[in-house]
Amino acid sequence: MTDLAAGVVPVVGGPSLPQERRLVTEIPGPKALALHARRVAAVASGIGSTLPIEVVAAGGGVLVDSDGNSLIDLGSGIAVVNVGNAAPAVAQAVAAQAAAFTHTCFMITPYEGYVAVCEHLNRLTPGDHAKKSALFNSGAEAVENAVKIARHATGRTAIVVMEHAYHGRTNLTMALTAKSMPYKAGFGPFAPDIYRVPMSYPYRSGGVDSGAEAAAAAIDHIRTEIGADTVAAVLVEPIQGEGGFIVPGTGYLPALVEFCNESGILFIADEIQTGFGRTGAWFACEHEGIVPDLITTAKGIAGGLPLAAVTGRADVMDAVHSGGLGGTYGGNPVACAAALATIDLLESSGLIVQAQQLGAAMRTRLDAMKSRDRGIGEVRGRGMMQAIELVKPGTTQPDPERVRAVLAICHSQGVVTLSAGTYGNVIRFLPPLVISEHLLHEGLDVVSEALASTR
Ligand SMILES: *Cc1c(COP(=O)(O)O)cnc(C)c1O
Repeated sequence: MTDLAAGVVPVVGGPSLPQERRLVTEIPGPKALALHARRVAAVASGIGSTLPIEVVAAGGGVLVDSDGNSLIDLGSGIAVVNVGNAAPAVAQAVAAQAAAFTHTCFMITPYEGYVAVCEHLNRLTPGDHAKKSALFNSGAEAVENAVKIARHATGRTAIVVMEHAYHGRTNLTMALTAKSMPYKAGFGPFAPDIYRVPMSYPYRSGGVDSGAEAAAAAIDHIRTEIGADTVAAVLVEPIQGEGGFIVPGTGYLPALVEFCNESGILFIADEIQTGFGRTGAWFACEHEGIVPDLITTAKGIAGGLPLAAVTGRADVMDAVHSGGLGGTYGGNPVACAAALATIDLLESSGLIVQAQQLGAAMRTRLDAMKSRDRGIGEVRGRGMMQAIELVKPGTTQPDPERVRAVLAICHSQGVVTLSAGTYGNVIRFLPPLVISEHLLHEGLDVVSEALASTR
């Protein structure tokens, strides 16, 4: 610890790092600012950064920077390092696979890791029907492929998505995404035959549990304005991520699934942000007991390595002709090794139960903050995916300025926090599932103080 304070950069990450918040310079410090200057000169300005430190190591619940600061991580690199950053089992699996072979292209000469990841996904995703999987590199690519598969399997072309949805940044997934700024503005024209319907957003529909009503409105819209028999798939995040951790009212998702089943429409659950233990279950669909026809996964799947998947009903997945799906790197062997280690950790180490327990502790803290702050309109989420929506006191008018002020304080105090929401007025909390209870509380203490000083 003293060597860190003296500015010596640690060479190992993972949980061996001291699990503490420690500030030895301002954030960002001088080395971070020097990197930032290089970055401004070399990196396209379309790529943003929430907190421009220079990370040199990370593990457990901390990120360590080149200035010797140790920050509490309440973001997990956007819900990716659920099992912890540089988790030793993941790092070892990656090193061993990289030493054996790094790439062959599964479409040319296959290997076991790819098949094993698919077997696990087929077993772990909701529903006990026969399933198959295909692997890709990013969440957006998985969503694109789910749409390709759904169109091919149904012979229909229309795709229905939700208000506040986020599905990625490629051309098709921009069309599927709701929010214009920053995701879509200036990037059109967008892919056709995409239709947006109302999402259940209980807080913004009078605080009532609007699940059944919102589903009826969405279904009515599909029937009357789109035509149910033209629709290949309804694509939904079971808890919306970038949209602001919107948990639909009870019954919304089951009603949509039922409608899809009756109408020959495939129900696709985008569990890219909600998957792999994040919500206190393997997948968020489980909280409502729904079984999607197709499910897209990425983010938490491989402990930080780029991997994504589409998993679904075997007959639907197999509707596509041989060679119709793929990509050079999809299911890269190193990423698959990381996924196998990640899945093993989630299954064997009680992390999903821990997500329930730590998530409940986090929820209690956030509820307490709301009880003394009229600017917190709602606390919502499940497990280790919780958020607060900030509004002008006594109204439901969004307060994105205060979100920016709170985040700036948290960042300067060494706590990595993220915003979200169509109106930019949501603060979301996505700690690694392995964070210590002590660090989680310390991080939330800082959030609480930042809220108090901006009230
Ligand atoms: C992040 C995200 C995506 C896109 O994943 P990328 O890997 O960034 O392409 C799609 N859907 C949801 C719900 C996400 O959270």
